[in-house]
Amino acid sequence: MRPLICEIRLQHLRDNYRTLKALHGGKMLAVIKADAYGHGALPCAQALENEADGFAVALLEEALQLREAGIQKPIVLLEGVFQAAEYALVDQHRLWPVVHQQAQLEALLAHNWQSPVNVWLKMDSGMHRAGFFPQDYAAAYNALKQSPKVAEIVKMSHFACADIADSGMTELQTETFDSICAALPGAESLANSAAILAHPASHREWGRAGIALYGIDPFGGRDSRLKPVMKLSSQVFAERILQAHEPVGYGAAFYTSRPTRVGLVACGYADGYPRHAGSGAPVSVSGCPSRIIGRISMDMLTVDLSKGGGSGDSVELFGDEISVNEVAAAAGTIPHEIVCAVKRAQKIYR
Ligand SMILES: *Cc1c(COP(=O)(O)O)cnc(C)c1O
Repeated sequence: MRPLICEIRLQHLRDNYRTLKALHGGKMLAVIKADAYGHGALPCAQALENEADGFAVALLEEALQLREAGIQKPIVLLEGVFQAAEYALVDQHRLWPVVHQQAQLEALLAHNWQSPVNVWLKMDSGMHRAGFFPQDYAAAYNALKQSPKVAEIVKMSHFACADIADSGMTELQTETFDSICAALPGAESLANSAAILAHPASHREWGRAGIALYGIDPFGGRDSRLKPVMKLSSQVFAERILQAHEPVGYGAAFYTSRPTRVGLVACGYADGYPRHAGSGAPVSVSGCPSRIIGRISMDMLTVDLSKGGGSGDSVELFGDEISVNEVAAAAGTIPHEIVCAVKRAQKIYR
């Protein structure tokens, strides 16, 4: 069997959840949208079911999969419903929809609820992607508050720049949110991972931990408080020795500068490894730092074995020795995209 393995360490997930909840104080949603950022929504939900205060997914279908598999805890739909008819399933499965625009609000109030619904009402406090403008927020809140169809309202907003140090945006967004919400009773939720780690003034009744839950530092480095959950590893399955000034791989985009032992590794962009990482991206061969040379192919990539290693040796693409943040930096992207993209690898849950 091909030796590409995507290990998911569920104990690390639980440890990260506890760490983030304690840092934030109050309750904590485990954000498991997009198949838990590629880690597997159901196994992650099951691993956290006994201690998570609730889960968050992007859309109804993701929540239904969890309910059908027996997950009982609250589930927030971060984008709310796309069609009014979805509220019937929201009602049946006791989901907590976000309401971020007027059409969702009107459809919610028009729906014939079997039991009152908990609503997360979203303000656009400055990101300008979704949510009610601050000047429209109190009216939306009051419309919900007055309805017997609505149980609790959680006031929420999302930060644009929480992972950018000293941008000033997070403080501005928090001020905008507070200026409107001070007059409206009820629980609040502002902090995503970066804000949980770095913006204590944004900590309210509910946190929403995504990327950091998976042990990934949202600031691009390594945070010793977090434990990486996903480890992608493979093996060198062939090797060759090239003389100096020989090309390697598609496009002859890399030339050896000296005699070089080249290892062939079972992992390519069809497995989700980012093709843009290219020559120079870090890997670890049997625990020794090395790098990719030549272009990444669909099913294979090539690494420099000049400092040691050979056929049969293990290769860590990212996880413990290589941070997924380093791979993301080499590929000009963010770690979220990389972990979400992993596929075709054998997934092993521990
Ligand atoms: C995805 C998402 C989160 C989690 O963000 P991280 O930065 O991954 O922690 C929190 N809130 C909302 C509204 C989201 O869409």
